[in-house]
Amino acid sequence: MSWFARLRPHPFTGESLPCALCGGRESIVVGRRDRWFVPLRNVLCCGCGLVFLDPMPRADEIANYYRDEYCAHYHGDPRPRPKALLRDERGARERMALLAPLLRKGDRVLDIGAGTGAFVAAANAAGWLAEGVEPNREFAAFGTRHYRVRVHSTLFEDAPLAADSFDLITSSHVFEHLRRPNEAFARVHRLLRPAGHFHILVPDIADPLRTPSARWHFGHAHGFTRQTLAMLAWKTGFELLPESPPTGAHLLLRRLDAPQVDWMRFPGHAQEMRRHFAEHTAWRHFASVTPYRRFFERMARFRRERRALREP
Ligand SMILES: [Zn+2]
Repeated sequence: MSWFARLRPHPFTGESLPCALCGGRESIVVGRRDRWFVPLRNVLCCGCGLVFLDPMPRADEIANYYRDEYCAHYHGDPRPRPKALLRDERGARERMALLAPLLRKGDRVLDIGAGTGAFVAAANAAGWLAEGVEPNREFAAFGTRHYRVRVHSTLFEDAPLAADSFDLITSSHVFEHLRRPNEAFARVHRLLRPAGHFHILVPDIADPLRTPSARWHFGHAHGFTRQTLAMLAWKTGFELLPESPPTGAHLLLRRLDAPQVDWMRFPGHAQEMRRHFAEHTAWRHFASVTPYRRFFERMARFRRERRALREP
């Protein structure tokens, strides 16, 4: 897909939905254009601080987008490039290091949004019985072909998976794409065995290092913080484990038998988020040292990746 095509608004009708965390209907607009300056409306829930698209694309609109267009629209290429594969494999190693202490050989593992299948392959190699779900057909076919792993080529909500059957479910950079993340959390809860683990990582919408204009994207239906993600987990019947990475929207959870009724543990969070969006403007961002430091860090990473790809 060309750069010009990215500048065209992604056509959708959408619908107005209540907040997926607290059910609230009161919100304020925090984003009016996406990262390519195409009109796209993002709101902040005044009840809990969750950020989401309003209007929210309908289920059929989002399904079509992911099935065929997402990879081309987002990465500029419909198939995994060598660099994408390298990053996926590095991400898989990092996830394995975090999750390995939780599991025994023969445990069943599910990766939601399996991408190239790199994590599923690494999990199988460690002696677990792993499978993945990946809505993009090209990526799902790649995983089956390249790593010979089991990947269901469908949306998570449609995947034929048995209740009470997994010891660990993991999901990296997926839940921000979902229109009803609360329903996906509830499905994860049903699929896990009692005291099973759920590992979830999403981008932090309040990350102070992020370029403000880059926050907004049609594919990102929800913007989480560590606080809103944790509240959603508590509300759907999980506890937060102390082994969770200390920062970011990155949690290690354990399934409880019932939802936690006292899930609203950050009552001032909506107000904090309001302040964050008011203060973290593009002008202030580019007047700080952050974007320039990030540019040089990114260049160094590109050079490392190029070197790694040249090595046999
Ligand atoms: Zn809310």
